[in-house]
Amino acid sequence: MRILVTGGAGFIGSAVTRLLVLERGASVLVVDKLTYAGDRRNLRDCEGRPGFSFLQADICDRARMAAAMAEFRPDAVMHLAAESHVDRSITGAADFIRTNIDGTFSMLEAARGYHAGLDAEAKARFRFHHISTDEVFGSLGPTGAFSETTAYDPRSPYSASKAASDHLVRAWHETYGLPVLVTNCSNNYGPYHFPEKLIPLVILNALEGKPLPVYGDGSNIRDWLHVEDHARALVTVVERGRIGETYCIGGRAERRNLQVVETICDLLDARRPMGTPRRGLIRFVTDRPGHDARYAIDCTKMESELGWRQQQSFESGIAQTIDWYLANEWWWRPLREQKYSGERLGLITQK
Ligand code: NAD
Repeated sequence: MRILVTGGAGFIGSAVTRLLVLERGASVLVVDKLTYAGDRRNLRDCEGRPGFSFLQADICDRARMAAAMAEFRPDAVMHLAAESHVDRSITGAADFIRTNIDGTFSMLEAARGYHAGLDAEAKARFRFHHISTDEVFGSLGPTGAFSETTAYDPRSPYSASKAASDHLVRAWHETYGLPVLVTNCSNNYGPYHFPEKLIPLVILNALEGKPLPVYGDGSNIRDWLHVEDHARALVTVVERGRIGETYCIGGRAERRNLQVVETICDLLDARRPMGTPRRGLIRFVTDRPGHDARYAIDCTKMESELGWRQQQSFESGIAQTIDWYLANEWWWRPLREQKYSGERLGLITQK
């Protein structure tokens, strides 16, 4: 398979690219602008491998996207490039509107032109897979879970921009017959997660004995999925998903934010004792505006229709992730020193 992956230098896109190149032997063209969140080092295991190539480009540049498709001739586009951090969307939404909405429009138009020019066999094979988030569904009460039929109710600039992009993708299917797939996934964690996000921020602040600020009272609930399980789910969908369908992907691992932070403290105390327990570093800070109370995903369709199962429990996945950060200071140290210190916002952040 030949796959064009947008946002492949980011957290999830690089996990997808590693899986495709190293395990599936696919040919992959990564298209990435290399914003603050993109990092070529995330792809170091793929560099130089047969079939791997990289194009630094902005997805909003439609002519460039069309040319990249015409030259690379993908069987599928996996579209992950996005502005992805909710807190940044609250302080400045413009990049989110541009990349997540205009950028998706640009990718859809480039794909539509490319698809129209394919011969019948290639046309039947082609698919445009749009990768989205469960945040488009809004906030849950104490019970229930999001599924493929949940109505959209985005509440942050980030989730609103992702919701808009989901709608565009479905419209391009209904109106123009573009063969699309949409996935909505819960919170990811794992290796190469940019240190502004909740789990890496807490691991690194806790490692360095810095305060661990927790929004509100820490009771907000997220459903956590290891990034490699998400990558496997995405490759399953692009290979076997039914055109025009949406698939919800989740970890069946609901945890309160405070629980997540305490778990990290305890695991780090066991690995690198500090003298006093790290739970003492926790500080409760003013809540994020419009902070969604609870997310949970019902991933029955992924399991029953496509046979996907997550392989990592939250407990094993979080321990593995902590060990990865302990072993890979070469990766995070420059990011902490040059891009995000973990102190700038003074907040705990998610997604
Ligand atoms: P990320 O911020 O780590 O990576 C985004 C990548 O997109 C970066 O490499 C960045 O350089 C690139 N990019 C940004 N703007 C671009 C542009 N205009 N042109 C080309 N490249 C550009 O994000 P992530 O966490 O890996 O998320 C990837 C996708 O998955 C996003 O669409 C996000 O909405 C979705 N998602 C994320 C999560 C999560 O928990 N992180 C959960 C569900 C869905």
